[in-house]
Amino acid sequence: KDNTMKLEIPSKSQNEAFARVVVASFASQLDPTIEELADIKTAVSEAVTNAIIHGYENRIEKIIIECNIIGNRLEIIIEDFGTGISNIEEAMEPFYTSRPELERSGMGFTVMETFMDNLEIFSEENKGTRIKMVK
Ligand code: ATP
Ligand code: MG
Repeated sequence: KDNTMKLEIPSKSQNEAFARVVVASFASQLDPTIEELADIKTAVSEAVTNAIIHGYENRIEKIIIECNIIGNRLEIIIEDFGTGISNIEEAMEPFYTSRPELERSGMGFTVMETFMDNLEIFSEENKGTRIKMVK
């Protein structure tokens, strides 16, 4: 690891914007293009929003964000200790949402997959969810 950071924040909606800016700021030492930076911000927003609304169903609990720089790659880990995902394959399908009543479009994981070079999801029901993305 060439550099690393770890951030713990409560799952408040205003922390979604905060997390996105912190990760983008950490990423800037890799001299990303504006487009790469925008992709990273969007992916972080999606993952943090998921932790807030699905993982914790809007309860205020902790979210951990970890970033590692390895060579010229940025690894981002976003973790919650909430409900977890029972069927990861289904959750990753475009347009699948467990909360259609909240007017979610079911595109968060698809966006993360599209905007990042690699996406891994680890999740256990009632234990939580850990999203690892690489750019
Ligand atoms: P959108 O992101 O477009 O607003 P969405 O959040 O429902 O809609 P995805 O982000 O693709 O869509 O997530 C798909 C589904 O995976 C969610 O509906 C939810 O059931 C589950 N999920 C995602 N992240 C988490 C999480 N951190 N904890 C628990 N369940 C999650
Ligand atoms: Mg989502």
